[in-house]
Amino acid sequence: MPSARAWIWPRWSVGWHRTWPTIRRGSTPRRRSDRPPMTAGAGCYCGAVRARLDLAEAGALHCHCSQCRCLSGAAFTTWLNLPKAGFRIEAGADDLTAFAVTANATRHFCRHCGAHVYSTDSREPDIVGLPLGIVTGDNLPQPGTHYYFDSGVPWCDVAMTASKAGGVTGLEPLDGP
Ligand SMILES: [Zn+2]
Ligand SMILES: [Zn+2]
Repeated sequence: MPSARAWIWPRWSVGWHRTWPTIRRGSTPRRRSDRPPMTAGAGCYCGAVRARLDLAEAGALHCHCSQCRCLSGAAFTTWLNLPKAGFRIEAGADDLTAFAVTANATRHFCRHCGAHVYSTDSREPDIVGLPLGIVTGDNLPQPGTHYYFDSGVPWCDVAMTASKAGGVTGLEPLDGP
């Protein structure tokens, strides 16, 4: 499994969105040697689709962009991102359908219950992203940053203590020095 990916995860973590950010080294996951081997499960609401995840090089983030809000119906989407080599569909591959969000990004859904199971981006073919809410397991990565925070809704009454990014790219630091 390519280890270098772990150090640039903020770049591909936001690859599902309509802008394509430059590499930004923030919220870097702990070194691999600091983390025990970890796996997790994921599945859709109706149970037709199940996946198994290797979290060794996974990262997580919150995204408040309009695409994430509209497609989830929620105030923001929390993403888990990992190398495709660590993502395996265990059941229900034929129960998935797909929607091309942009020319590059595709979201894959359960055709029965509509749950979003994972996303891919042709510009980063070795990476997949999953909504963290469908993932179950211990020691899941802690989301390190709120991206597109200044594009978010004003009615979300949740304390958000992770670092903030925004601006045109959604990735520019908003926190003070
Ligand atoms: Zn389902
Ligand atoms: Zn987003």
